[in-house]
Amino acid sequence: MTTGSPYSMLSVEDAFNVTLTQARPPAPVHRPLSEVRGAILAADIAAQEPLPPFPASTMDGYAVVAADGPGDYPLIGEVSAGALAGFTVQPGAVAYITTGAPLPDGADAVVMIEETERLDGGGDAPRIRIGQQVNPGVNVRPVGVDVEAGQTVLAAGERLDPAEIGLLATAGIVDVPIFPRPKVAVLSTGDELVEPGEPLGPGQIRDSNRAMLLAAIRAAGGEPVDLGISGDTQEALEARVRQGLEQADILLTSGGVSMGDLDLVKPLLEHAGTVHYGRVRMKPGKPVTFATADVEQGRRLVFGLPGNPVSSLVTFYLFVVPALRKMAGWPDPRLRQVQARLAQPLPLDAYRPEYHRATLSWDAEQACFIAASTGIQASSRLLSMRTANALLALPQREGTMAAGEPVAALLIGDL
Ligand code: AMP
Ligand code: MG
Repeated sequence: MTTGSPYSMLSVEDAFNVTLTQARPPAPVHRPLSEVRGAILAADIAAQEPLPPFPASTMDGYAVVAADGPGDYPLIGEVSAGALAGFTVQPGAVAYITTGAPLPDGADAVVMIEETERLDGGGDAPRIRIGQQVNPGVNVRPVGVDVEAGQTVLAAGERLDPAEIGLLATAGIVDVPIFPRPKVAVLSTGDELVEPGEPLGPGQIRDSNRAMLLAAIRAAGGEPVDLGISGDTQEALEARVRQGLEQADILLTSGGVSMGDLDLVKPLLEHAGTVHYGRVRMKPGKPVTFATADVEQGRRLVFGLPGNPVSSLVTFYLFVVPALRKMAGWPDPRLRQVQARLAQPLPLDAYRPEYHRATLSWDAEQACFIAASTGIQASSRLLSMRTANALLALPQREGTMAAGEPVAALLIGDL
């Protein structure tokens, strides 16, 4: 009886590089403005018109000829946002104007309403008392001051968050060139698994990984595809894997990658495509497996994630998220990293680098992030990921790291 794994153990870095080499963004598509938040822009966007397209008042007040100075002047008309004045302000006259309205011809400044007084003296035309001397251009946004015509307002590779969506709207781009969201399918494997809504029979546990991974995919900007639970038979597994490869750009399986008799995923992936690695020197997540498979629709990435919930989610963040981001067009798909100081001493592993789950918070007094451990780090204990917003990259060595020592923290949630 053999006990060794046929797969050589890769370092996390080598496994990461192998994964990213295989992940490539598909051709860009066009999508409506309302659907592109979080996507990566696939082309530069230039403004066709200047903003503002006309000299615009920044105040509610009176459009004046600046050289007139303080004094009482006849009110010759009004102009509000969205319309042109249709008259000219001659020296010695003023016009009422609202914020965002085009400055009438002849006027060269706006005096804000607080610096004026309306004199209703009983005559036909009201007069306005101007109490302030202003220079030409005061309270007026010149043409193109915010955006010049022809200016590149967004560049290919930029992520579309609310401000970028606003800039697309400003530029009149309603059909936006982006990289499409990768479709990511999730299949849970294991005879012991039941749906979360089911009561537990003897020897059964609820499938936590699928709901968790589907949520993680959505949070990472992917489009989740639910493949359900497969029992531990080759036929059942093969049928679901084939379905996943047809429907999604990335297929995730959970479970069935350790060394037991019913760990069927690795041999199946060898058959369906090319296994690039089957073991990684890391804790948790050592049996994580990565393969590619060519199907009619193109090249698919397949991750055989370990069944233990924590291993499954940690390997999702370390390998699947960067692959997903690269396929979604991110120029730098790596997890963002900050330095933090340990809140307490942590034991190290002499054989494997460890990804310790922690909650980072900003310490204003010390001006640094403090990393508090989430407690016992068993790979089955999903409570060790609860409230975690970082994975601490602990080095592989004997002994412990002391409280206060600096450590690299990979961000998996908001700070
Ligand atoms: P495996 O990799 O299939 O040997 O599973 C390792 C451990 O993770 C076992 O204790 C499984 O019962 C557990 N496990 C596997 N899949 C899931 C799942 N989808 N949800 C919760 N626990 C799981
Ligand atoms: Mg299993």
